[in-house]
Amino acid sequence: MKFSKELAVPPHKKVRLKDYDTCETLGYETEHEKGDDNDKVDVLMEKTIRRLDDLQYTLYAEGKRSVLIVLQGMDTAGKDGTIRHVMSGASPQSCKVTSFKVPSTRERLHDFLWRIHQATPENGEIMIFNRSHYEDVLVVRVHDLVPKKVWEDRYDEINRFEKYLTENGTTILKFFLHVSKGEQKKRIEARLADPSKHWKLSEADLKEREYWDDYTEAYEAALGKCSTKYAPWFIIPADHKWFRNLAVSKIIVEALEDMDPKYPTPQIDIARMKRLLK
Ligand code: AMP
Ligand code: MG
Repeated sequence: MKFSKELAVPPHKKVRLKDYDTCETLGYETEHEKGDDNDKVDVLMEKTIRRLDDLQYTLYAEGKRSVLIVLQGMDTAGKDGTIRHVMSGASPQSCKVTSFKVPSTRERLHDFLWRIHQATPENGEIMIFNRSHYEDVLVVRVHDLVPKKVWEDRYDEINRFEKYLTENGTTILKFFLHVSKGEQKKRIEARLADPSKHWKLSEADLKEREYWDDYTEAYEAALGKCSTKYAPWFIIPADHKWFRNLAVSKIIVEALEDMDPKYPTPQIDIARMKRLLK
């Protein structure tokens, strides 16, 4: 079974998020949450992370292509946790993260893709976007930050931009971390109860929660209009953190395996170097 096949949004599909179970685990049973160290899912996760490490090393050595990973989701959906998991098997030299916040004064003086394009990966790199250009059709749409006509045109603009990037050697994978409203409540409660998590909370999280249905609609539009053959969206059931981590890392590994990076042919005479080494 390929995770990418199971979880990809087919191009032009009309997405209704309530048809997607946030607790889905694709038949992966686990004792994980009960703390059994030897369970099969743990073994599979470790294997996947090791494979990711090997593949990103070869991609870096090859130095000709790159991977762009987009992470989106409601507050507490697990963007930070997913990044920690994926990065646990990668070198910070070639696997990087950019987080997009409310645009700065300078960023606001440019088109919405300007700051995004500056952060796209160099050849050999994997770049993870923690939030992305999709905020410009999500928070911006929900709160009417620009006129409707402006955000409406952005779906096409995004598709054209992503096509351009893929034509220039970047593989794009976009993950929507799908949590339920009930699970979000539990996670906010857990953060309120844990002083080491207080820094992650703001009153704005509660305010945004009131816009849950509007965000759902905005996500459905983005997933439906911008899942393309060249830059697919994946809907990741994210109520179970272990499954979210497994699914995201598996899909990245599957994409890297399809890319099949190769070490470059050495430009040096190995035999001669061996002879000369004193
Ligand atoms: P966090 O990821 O929790 O640090 O929060 C970043 C905040 O920046 C979120 O509330 C986003 O909605 C907001 N943000 C990111 N990009 C944009 C954008 N293009 N326009 C407006 N707000 C944005
Ligand atoms: Mg936040």
